[in-house]
Amino acid sequence: MQYYSTRGNTVRMSSSEAIVRGLAPDGGLFVPADKITAFDIAKLPNNSYQELANTIFKPFLSDYSDQEIEAAVHNAYNPRAFDHPEITPLHRIDKKKHILELWHGPTYAFKDIALQVLPHLLKTAMKKTGGDDEIVILTATSGDTGKSALEGFRDIPGIKIIVYFPEKGVSKIQKLQMVTQEGSNVSVAAVKGNFDDTQRGVKDIFNDDILRARLAARGYRLSSANSINWGRLLPQIVYYFWAYLSLINKKYINLGDAVNFTVPTGNFGNILAGYYAKCLGLPVNRLICASNQNNILTDFIKTGLYDSNRKLHLTLSPSMDILISSNLERLLFELTKHNAGKIADWMEGLKSMGYYRVDKPIMDEIQKLFYAGFANDINTVTTIKSVFDDYNYLTDTHTAVGLSVLNNYLSNNNDSCHNIILSTASPYKFASSVARALQKYSESDSELALLNLLASETGTKVPENLADLGTKEIRHKKVVTGDNMRNHLFETLSIN
Ligand SMILES: *Cc1c(COP(=O)(O)O)cnc(C)c1O
Repeated sequence: MQYYSTRGNTVRMSSSEAIVRGLAPDGGLFVPADKITAFDIAKLPNNSYQELANTIFKPFLSDYSDQEIEAAVHNAYNPRAFDHPEITPLHRIDKKKHILELWHGPTYAFKDIALQVLPHLLKTAMKKTGGDDEIVILTATSGDTGKSALEGFRDIPGIKIIVYFPEKGVSKIQKLQMVTQEGSNVSVAAVKGNFDDTQRGVKDIFNDDILRARLAARGYRLSSANSINWGRLLPQIVYYFWAYLSLINKKYINLGDAVNFTVPTGNFGNILAGYYAKCLGLPVNRLICASNQNNILTDFIKTGLYDSNRKLHLTLSPSMDILISSNLERLLFELTKHNAGKIADWMEGLKSMGYYRVDKPIMDEIQKLFYAGFANDINTVTTIKSVFDDYNYLTDTHTAVGLSVLNNYLSNNNDSCHNIILSTASPYKFASSVARALQKYSESDSELALLNLLASETGTKVPENLADLGTKEIRHKKVVTGDNMRNHLFETLSIN
């Protein structure tokens, strides 16, 4: 499989080159250039997540050897990193509702699935693409990516990682997780502003040729761990298949039965992996795109107008507080049958005017497959409480957005398919919001007290790496403005 850009499909690159670069030179995203061949689901390995991952990775990483792929998968999905042997287990809460728990990795959010394996894929890719440049991973995070990337990349030789997070856009635990990060090759800074400001700062650095040349002269090569990297997207396709195979193994469905996936969505990366899974032959009925109060995708999927000229709300599901869903570009590229010129026009419109509108035939296709809805903070909190009361199952705020939107969908549509709800974070990670939803919150409780409270409510254990957060040393105290990110980058790399 080769890759080219969503905004100009003349230059083809290998998978390792696409993974090292992250973003295409013309500012577009890398997508498979060759036709995608469906898997024969009956023949997919169904009793080991690792074997399934190997099988799904191989056609997409055709310039990697089988051994290289297997080593990366083995180094990522193992009992040291994941506290469940199935990596992404399914938990049934109702006859036709199954929660796919994507948070059994080291930082308790679904980003770990991709970010535990990406560093290994990248390290191998660097060897293949030659040169001994040091890779500098630059990442803007709405909370979970940052910590997950820091854990994935820490102490990996030949790679440095710098994470920027919006000063006021992440939860207390998310912030603590990042500012206490250990490792010899890591740097973390808060950025004044929201996630979009932070992401824009990072994108501007990537698009600055002069700056890149200056870094190159010092032996540094920029790359990204954001969900725009193909190496982030590919690992996420695996769990869609895993969930489906689990339903077959448990005899809830038969081979070929279509299912729905509900996905709490921000940057559109997770749900896009579901779209590619469908292209790869997975029987998907609807992909349910769940947003919080930042319902730009809901509006887009209903009207065809993507309009970012609106206020960003800070919600109880901060990892979805996003107005520019970068990965949507890939969906549009696929649906326009690889019309790079059209995509470039739309993205230019988004950049210069803040909006674009897609054609009716594209809209019709989107609406056939996707359903979109949103949940505000009140819906979110009510859902956490009612799911806990009804099913004795505690969800975090992001997953609750998904469940709330799924309930709306089911009450408006006659749909008898089984539903898989992607659970993107552990409730412990958003302890204060979850405790509030359970009406057990008290202002004077410390974070640790809240974690203990959730443990006693659910009869589960406080995750190891969260229990000791309060006592860890704060190692990263820098706060920068968007304009200052370049200086911070040079300082971190000791360039003057
Ligand atoms: C990143 C994240 C999301 C959004 O995923 P996208 O791939 O950006 O759509 C949802 N929930 C949690 C907990 C996340 O960390």
